[in-house]
Order: sequence, then structure tokens, then C-alpha cells
Amino acid sequence: MDSAAAAGVSLLTIDLGAVARNWQQLRDHATPAACGAAVKADAYGTGADRVVPALAAAGCRAFFVATLAEGIAVSETLGARWPEADVFVLNGPPSARLDLLISARLIPVLNSLGDIDLWAAAARRRAVALPAVLHVDTGMSRLGLPPAEVECLAAEPARLHGLDLRFIMTHLACADTPDHPLNDRQRQRFADALSRLPHVPTSFANSAGVFLGPAFHGDLVRPGAALYGVNPTPKKPNPMSQVVRLQGRILQVREIDRNESVGYGASHSAVRRTTIATVAAGYADGFLRSLSNRGRGLIGGVSVPLIGRVSMDLVTFDVTEAPADLVHPGELIELIGPDNPVDAVAAAAGTIGYEILTSLGHRYARTYVGGSEE
Ligand SMILES: *Cc1c(COP(=O)(O)O)cnc(C)c1O
Repeated sequence: MDSAAAAGVSLLTIDLGAVARNWQQLRDHATPAACGAAVKADAYGTGADRVVPALAAAGCRAFFVATLAEGIAVSETLGARWPEADVFVLNGPPSARLDLLISARLIPVLNSLGDIDLWAAAARRRAVALPAVLHVDTGMSRLGLPPAEVECLAAEPARLHGLDLRFIMTHLACADTPDHPLNDRQRQRFADALSRLPHVPTSFANSAGVFLGPAFHGDLVRPGAALYGVNPTPKKPNPMSQVVRLQGRILQVREIDRNESVGYGASHSAVRRTTIATVAAGYADGFLRSLSNRGRGLIGGVSVPLIGRVSMDLVTFDVTEAPADLVHPGELIELIGPDNPVDAVAAAAGTIGYEILTSLGHRYARTYVGGSEE
């Protein structure tokens, strides 16, 4: 028995080769636009310290994170090996930490006139041109310059003095719904804003936006979820490779009689004599409680229903129909994998693949395969 089996631990396997192939596929799809990568939230839960080098080795030179701390970590990972790679901080420059942004050579996304004034003043104080990205809001109403601020900036372009403006970006709200009218409205609003602002490259599409066509690409696309296997074309077959495989370790197997209940709240009662496998994964591992009585697993290619509530550390499956030789403590049930992809798990949980990935816990034995270092 290997050590993870001996320890009764479930297995999380992350395929870095699949991440690199997904990035290359998105790059080819977006060309002539350049292709970056969103690696915020620890590369969507898959581990930025391993994913970032795999992407850089594949040719990626633009990395998007949410926070300063994520930016510092990614920039350290890129280190001396990829000094030409840029790391962009989407949440903007934190006013009390500008020196850290500068020393880590991070590039903030400026989301308001306030951000612009702050970063431009820092540049003038230091008498250096500081790199920056300008974000205009075209329909998210979240971050980015609202139309009135774009107007102000167009009237007072000197506010940008001291800045090395790398590109102007906006973010799509409905890219996963290709015929949503907001897509075209955002495209028009972006074009309007660009016509009033300095002529620099542009960045538009997220994962799903890449598949909306060249009008939505700009000069640099910023896919995240698709890199990690989430379907960027939700109503069509998934063009991406699966990255994450989660195999739950069976801790115990038992038979229960008809009418016996399973788990907290007795939310499932056996309708016949039933074989139950109890597996080492629970909501504390990001195996969402909303999968209670709704999820499924696979054992020896046979689909087995998740029954009862997902608890903190454990989940139970009805394995009555599974091959008996595989139903033993120490064996594995596939919880996420090629035949139960992240989007299917998300649908069963009533959420999106993004949340399944970013919730992946830290009690699994993590293995990385397919990396260029292997
Ligand atoms: C997260 C994010 C992305 C990546 O989006 P996906 O849908 O995961 O491809 C791109 N741009 C911005 C501004 C983001 O916040």
C-alpha cells in the first residue's frame, strides 16, 4: 500500500501538461492577440507555484492575480527564469503598499481616477515611469472607471503623466452566453472609451470571451477557468482538457438494511439492502455540502450515487452496483475526473466549476503530473 492509502487520504492529481495544452489551444484560438493567464486564487485552487512555471514554460508572459500578496508570490515563482514576464494585480494598487508593488515589479490595474492619481503621484515622486493598466467599466459595475470617470480622464489626460500605460482593459459580464445583448453593448462602450483615451494596446476577453470571436479579443486575452478545464462554451462540448482528478479514499464499507438511514438528518433511507462506502472527503475539503444526495462518483467505471449529507470530513456512496472487488477500504472512488468533469460536479452542486476548483481543500495528497520538469 502506498503512503496515502495507508494514511486513508484521498488523492488530488493536477495535470500540468493539460494546463499547458489548454493555454496553447487558447493562444492559437486568440492569435494574433497575445494570450495571458489568470492565476488568481492560487491558480483557481490548482497551485500557482506549480501552474505558473508550467504556463511560463509553454510561453505565457502575462499573469493576472487579484491581490498584492498573490502578485508577490507569482513574481517570486517566475523569478530570474522568466524576468520578462509581467504580473498584473487586478484589484488595483493598495495605497499603503505602493513600495511593495514597485519592489516586486508588479503592474497594478488602475480601477478609478483615485488609483490613477495615486500611482501617477508615486511615479512622479520617484521620477520613474511606472507601468500600469487602465480598466474601464463597460457593464460589470464592479471595478474599473465608470463612464463619468472616463469622461474626466479624457478631459484631463495629464493625469496619466508619469505612467507607462501598457494597455487598457475591460471585462465581460456575459461572455458565457454568446447571444446575450450585453456582449455587444460592452464592445461598443469599450470602443467609445478607447476613442477618447491614449492609443495603447487593449485587453478584453476572459475564457468564454476568447470563443466570442476576434471582435472580443483586443490585443491580449486573459483566460482563467478554461486553463483549468472549465468549459468556456457552456452549451457546447468542452474543447478543453480536464486538469483536475479527485479520487476519494474508501475508509469503510458496510451493508445496511432497507429503511436504515444514512448520515446527518437521516436524509436518505435505504430502499433495499444497500452497500455503503464511506469516503475521506467532506465540505471541509471543499467537497460542497450542496452535493448531499445529488452528487455521484465512479468506481470501476460504474456510476455510484452520493447518498446522505456530505459532512465535514466524510461522504457516503451507495456502491451496491459497483464491482465487488473494488469496494474495499483503501480503494478509490473518482469524485472529479474524465467521466465526472468539474462542470458536472458543479451542476450537481448548483454552482459553477470555478467554485468547485477554488474550494479544493488542502487535506488531499496532491500530485502534479505532466510538468516539463518531470
Ligand atoms: C478572473 C478574471 C479573468 C479570467 O476569467 P475566466 O472567466 O476565469 O476566464 C479575466 N479578467 C478579469 C478582470 C478577471 O477578474
